[in-house]
Amino acid sequence: MINRRKFVKAAGLAAVSSTYVLDALAKSDSKKVNAKPIVISTWDFGQAANAAAWDVLKTGGRALDAVEKGVSVPEADPSNQSVGLGGFPDRDGRVTLDACIMDEHGNAGSVAALEHIVHPISVARMVMEKTPHVMLVGEGALQFALKNGFKKENLLTPESEKAWKEWLKTSKYEPVMNIENRKAAPKKLPGGKDNHDTIGMIALDANGNLSGACTTSGMAFKMHGRVGDSPIIGAGMFVDNEIGGAAATGVGEEVIKIVGSFLVVELMRQGRTPQQACQEAVERIAKRDPKKAKEVQIGFIALNKRGEYGAYCLQAGFTYAVKSNDEDIVLKGKNLF
Ligand code: ASP
Repeated sequence: MINRRKFVKAAGLAAVSSTYVLDALAKSDSKKVNAKPIVISTWDFGQAANAAAWDVLKTGGRALDAVEKGVSVPEADPSNQSVGLGGFPDRDGRVTLDACIMDEHGNAGSVAALEHIVHPISVARMVMEKTPHVMLVGEGALQFALKNGFKKENLLTPESEKAWKEWLKTSKYEPVMNIENRKAAPKKLPGGKDNHDTIGMIALDANGNLSGACTTSGMAFKMHGRVGDSPIIGAGMFVDNEIGGAAATGVGEEVIKIVGSFLVVELMRQGRTPQQACQEAVERIAKRDPKKAKEVQIGFIALNKRGEYGAYCLQAGFTYAVKSNDEDIVLKGKNLF
């Protein structure tokens, strides 16, 4: 669906950081680059999103502005059927969006089951900055967005409507994920599309501050009202400016059950590299339900305060994108199975 660019090897050294908690990470197996600024995001379409984030970061801009701008790219892309405009609808034919955002002060904003708004990430930011709340859902989130100048739009494109009508013929809910080895996995969605893909993005700006964003239309043909991990702070995404940030993609129910992104950040706090932390979170999911873990896809990305990054997933097929002064690449996440 998106161009894959050549994989390029990491180059350069990590910038020196005096952050005490990260001293334990010196012997990192995670990638190190010329650390600041840097942005990482899920899937290969993350590369275009990173480019937009980089426009902010390269001029010394704030990580929060970078992640909002970055994830807005797939949100507005009608050919991306798992985020924003053109996302696959739920089983009732309604496109419902989930998104969350966190800044360097640990502030958080989130919307869930939001309809008709192309940029849920910007609504989530407004919830964070203009309300005393963290999360608004459904009709309330829509009312809030409309009152604040967002435009009501039809997000269901003819292509996604067609796929939904095709799906209605069998109406089987199968959380098919982007898995290279499909022996264990059920078939793709109508039209050959994968039923996957959230954009999760974490950025570290030139001032050493971290922010994160996560946005999705969720699992295709989900029950109406279903909310996944993506808008849940700590599940789909989490940032702690002292330590690092993490984001998840894949079957959200499994991520929520281990509070995945929070877990990854806490493991980094305990001294794990981003790569090790992502791996441990994936293993936790597999340990809890080994049978299900073999059938679904889940991937985590993580970036620490030093600009080291890593990723890990259940099945081969998960990719993530990195942009820094040294790199502009799409990498394959290491996988458990
Ligand atoms: N995590 C998302 C959800 O469960 C889906 C995805 O990443 O593909 O809604």
